[in-house]
Amino acid sequence: MGVKYAEKGAERYVTGKIEPFDQKNEMFCRSVWDPKVADIGEKFYMEETPPKNQPGHRLFEQSLVNGAWHLENYYAAGCAGGRKGLYSWDRTGKYVYPNVPPGLKISVDNEKEVTSLIKKTASFYGASLVGICKLDRRWLYSSAYFLDPKGGKVAENNLPEELTNAIVMAVEMDYGSIMHSPSCIASGAVGLGYSKMAFTSGLLAEYIRGLGYQAIACGNDTACSVPLAIDAGLGEIARNGILITPEFGPRVRLAKVLTDLPLILDRPIEFGVWDFCRICEKCAKHCPSQAIVYGEPSDKINNISNREGVLTWHIDAEKCLSFWATNGNDCGNCIRTCPFNKPDGRLHDFVRWGIRTTPGLNRLFLWGDDIMGYGKERKADSFWGQA
Ligand code: SF4
Ligand code: SF4
Repeated sequence: MGVKYAEKGAERYVTGKIEPFDQKNEMFCRSVWDPKVADIGEKFYMEETPPKNQPGHRLFEQSLVNGAWHLENYYAAGCAGGRKGLYSWDRTGKYVYPNVPPGLKISVDNEKEVTSLIKKTASFYGASLVGICKLDRRWLYSSAYFLDPKGGKVAENNLPEELTNAIVMAVEMDYGSIMHSPSCIASGAVGLGYSKMAFTSGLLAEYIRGLGYQAIACGNDTACSVPLAIDAGLGEIARNGILITPEFGPRVRLAKVLTDLPLILDRPIEFGVWDFCRICEKCAKHCPSQAIVYGEPSDKINNISNREGVLTWHIDAEKCLSFWATNGNDCGNCIRTCPFNKPDGRLHDFVRWGIRTTPGLNRLFLWGDDIMGYGKERKADSFWGQA
């Protein structure tokens, strides 16, 4: 695409009118109400998953997943529509400690200082990356869907008009556990990512309310996170349908806080993902359900879970969730195998720099990634320190 497109943010991928997207058409919700995919939902949500006598799927590994999701499931539920617990839209009550009088508000004379306050606080609460953008309301869900496997509920998405900014946060998922995908060990990292999303954004929203401004914390609910993250300068869209960040590749989860607090906006970035994805198809090759497309990006959608008017590699979410239902836990092969998924290191920094500055060498970088054996699934016992 080229650096000149970066300034456009998510708009750089838009090819037509972005129609309002109803959250109930997102795959996790659809599998609850859409007869076309009801069998997937039945299997995914309703069938019990007994542990297997197989490394990565034993009871003590399944429990790792349950523990990791605990905070999201019981104190936030952003995956089920949000708006409660840590994702509550309102301040929950008066604090006895510290007993601050109500109605106080900071005056924003210097947006730069306030922005740096917010970014520092977000990282203090646990965000690995923080970016800020104008809230482009095209990416808001036209209505919300409160997911319940026994029957979901549609609700109005009546977000106050004054909320014009989005603070987008990425939380890093553990590299060592993601490398075990598609076993429960990797699912533990995913669950922990969701719990950290709720923790970090919920606390940040409460902090902003304490400054006298409105703030709504959201996980996967309320708005599509990826275009907002692109606008906020956190990364680029990739073939695997996930945001790729320069720091952690696709190994992040995204949360956001929507607010009326005046803030300085970040600039969108471009660091070579689009061009690299065009020659690399590792995620597609290693996708167990073949939900990721090969070849050039297109605006052709697979089903109603994709957004029309967007040029990208549209994931077939029906195939993806179908594999999860059979697997008994989620999958992160498209994160594990991605060449942008690397731990810290000078060599990796050098390759990332090369991808950004010399796309003509992308095939060489890809060849190196294969030769070095990156992205291979790790054996379960190596996680527990027994091998
Ligand atoms: S999560 Fe797994 S099944 Fe779904 S698209 Fe990624 S690799 Fe494929
Ligand atoms: S594995 Fe390759 S094609 Fe897939 S998202 Fe990563 S860089 Fe792009």
